[in-house]
Amino acid sequence: MAQKKGRVFSGARPTGRQHLGNYLGAIKNYVALQDDYDCVYCIVDLHALTTLDTTLEIRENTYEMALDWLAAGIRPEETIMFIQSHVPQVTELHLLLSMVTPLGKLTDLPTFKEKARMQPHNINYGLVGYPVLMAADILLYKADIVPVGIDQASHVEFTREIARSFNYRYKTDTLKEPQVKHTEIPKVIGTDGQNKMSKSLDNHIELALTPQETVQRVMTMVTDPQRKTRQDPGNPDVCNVFSMHKIFSSPQEVEMVNIECRRAGIGCVDCKKLFAKNLNTSLEPFRSRRNELAKNPQDIWDILHDGARRASQIAKVTLQEARQAIGLPD
Ligand code: ADP
Repeated sequence: MAQKKGRVFSGARPTGRQHLGNYLGAIKNYVALQDDYDCVYCIVDLHALTTLDTTLEIRENTYEMALDWLAAGIRPEETIMFIQSHVPQVTELHLLLSMVTPLGKLTDLPTFKEKARMQPHNINYGLVGYPVLMAADILLYKADIVPVGIDQASHVEFTREIARSFNYRYKTDTLKEPQVKHTEIPKVIGTDGQNKMSKSLDNHIELALTPQETVQRVMTMVTDPQRKTRQDPGNPDVCNVFSMHKIFSSPQEVEMVNIECRRAGIGCVDCKKLFAKNLNTSLEPFRSRRNELAKNPQDIWDILHDGARRASQIAKVTLQEARQAIGLPD
């Protein structure tokens, strides 16, 4: 096997069935990175606790998400895929890192302010410490590269700062500063044609829908708002369906839509039908693999447990080094 270029770490909260935004913005990249890097992908259930009102769905959401990742092409024989809380060393490192983290920096982060605004009834201690836990995830596995969307870039920078502070304060080089890697498509727009695709806005298209459900969902997509009737010419440059064609349709079809939309040769309904057909074709291998995997749910849990076993081998070493650097007794 060719020498790998380093280690990749990424985590995502257990949000259940994944949608096109998750796929194009994250999972596709996770799959591709496996060729060149040792990859560690984590379902961060502890992070989810900071925002959830109910925790009853975490288990099911974790399972569904793992199923989607595997069906999309994560290879568990080489890649470590696991559940965050199954490797408890992360919580200890989180505590150690909190000692070199100025509180004011945490409360100044735009992501904290945004979350606090969204859930004023639940501004908990964990919410403030979210970036420290994220830093502990990344630093525990000595990641070289962290692939994230633009919105998370400040947290990776923050992780680098914490690593520097820790290394400086305890005169060590134990913690490795990671590099951020942005995903190719940092923002996939939802069916409303305006906002980032997201489950909470109900503007998403799940990968695991049936072909019929996919068509129905695509039909709700908002196109060029200026185009009121079939006879009006449209503007593909401002149409989210056209953006999707560019990803899922052939160059000839993209060209056809580009020309015909502008001269009202094709209507939005037919344009969406074509996109839905191509999306369904593209997702077919994913869906059949998913159905196959879903026949043995225990296999999914076994993969996650095996991942945790392999992850904890790395985690134990880093934590021990961190404890030694600080001078905590053995
Ligand atoms: P988390 O907040 O834990 O990252 P999300 O479900 O919001 O969980 O996102 C998981 C991954 O999918 C992240 O890497 C995120 O950047 C990506 N992602 C989610 N929605 C979109 C979107 N609409 N466009 C691009 N990337 C997205």
